[in-house]
Amino acid sequence: MAGDGFLAHELERLDEAGLRRHLRVVEEAQDARLLVGGKSVISLCSNNYLGLANHPALAEAAARAARDLGVGAGASRLVSGSMRIHAELEEQLASFKGVEAALLFNSGYHANLGVIAAAVGAEDAVFSDELNHASLIDGCRLSRARVCIYRHADVSSLEELLRGTKARRRLIVTDSIFSMEGDAAPLREICDLAERYGCMVMVDEAHATGVVGPNGGGLAEELGVQQRVTIQMGTLGKALGCFGAYVAGSRRLVDFLINTARTLIFTTALPPPVVAAASVALDIVGKEPERREAVRRNALRLRTGLRDCGYEIGRAETHIVPVIIGDPNATMRLSDFLFDHGVLAQGIRPPTVPPGTSRIRATVMATHSDRDIDAAISAFREAALQEEDDRLLSGASS
Ligand SMILES: *Cc1c(COP(=O)(O)O)cnc(C)c1O
Repeated sequence: MAGDGFLAHELERLDEAGLRRHLRVVEEAQDARLLVGGKSVISLCSNNYLGLANHPALAEAAARAARDLGVGAGASRLVSGSMRIHAELEEQLASFKGVEAALLFNSGYHANLGVIAAAVGAEDAVFSDELNHASLIDGCRLSRARVCIYRHADVSSLEELLRGTKARRRLIVTDSIFSMEGDAAPLREICDLAERYGCMVMVDEAHATGVVGPNGGGLAEELGVQQRVTIQMGTLGKALGCFGAYVAGSRRLVDFLINTARTLIFTTALPPPVVAAASVALDIVGKEPERREAVRRNALRLRTGLRDCGYEIGRAETHIVPVIIGDPNATMRLSDFLFDHGVLAQGIRPPTVPPGTSRIRATVMATHSDRDIDAAISAFREAALQEEDDRLLSGASS
């Protein structure tokens, strides 16, 4: 087509750099095991941490809501799409997060873009961890605020920037459990700094909601700082097994966002079936702490096994286990090897992670059995042995 000659060229460049991406099609419901290309594999790369995405009670609630309330909300929240079911889920979320109010967004991506761009503008400054999720980065860019990037989880680097940066309003933003590292932000210390320097704090609990904290309320709950974080954000699409996201905080914050967050104002409200399912997911998070416990147990089992095989997996102690390889091509070779050996573990390459830190991002689910985890470890062990053999062979021939 006219003008699209660059497409083939750009794709070739990605190929050459080992950075071209392809979609893999999953042929059945999301679970600890998946059918991919006709092959049954253990999934080590889902964010469906609690195994709720295919839970019958969620499916039933969604089906009932579709029958009773329809499939679509028909309009944006501010026009006529704000239904009773949205308001009820927001109340449930507020009490789950231990704050006054919550507001639904259509995804975590929408929430982060909308909230940051509403909270700060051209006269303001935002302080962002260097490993923050892309949606936070894009929110910072969209806001037109001055962006100050501090070293990963480094409060002295953050304080230095806070000391040197004057602005009308200042906002610190951070992942809670970092999506690609699996480590936790020093949230208590960040709240201390925010209070000392008069800044807002926004925390993205995408990977902690439902999993971390005594009631699954996230890292803010775990550390007891719910009342000190200005903006708590999280997604319904990961551990809660549904779709959509929320922002939680003061009533005033929610009222402000209803009036200013463009990704809320200019988009159709979440479909009733998704909202109904998310409400049931929250109930299960409250009633079945054993799911969180299973995630922790499985994560420990996987980390111990991978360390024993000699893999470099960082220092984090969560359900996200980064197996750092470095080179993107070597990472994809390992991912392919694992797939051939019955394990779906996606390679993660730049720009998702910094150059030179390509990795397998392994995640566990509550619904993995010990046998699943052990089979996954065996596949990694074989890959390590094979790598060793190849090194010996290439050494012998040179
Ligand atoms: C996945 C993710 C998001 C986006 O959430 P979605 O609901 O999937 O759009 C935002 N922040 C972080 C840290 C994430 O990992």
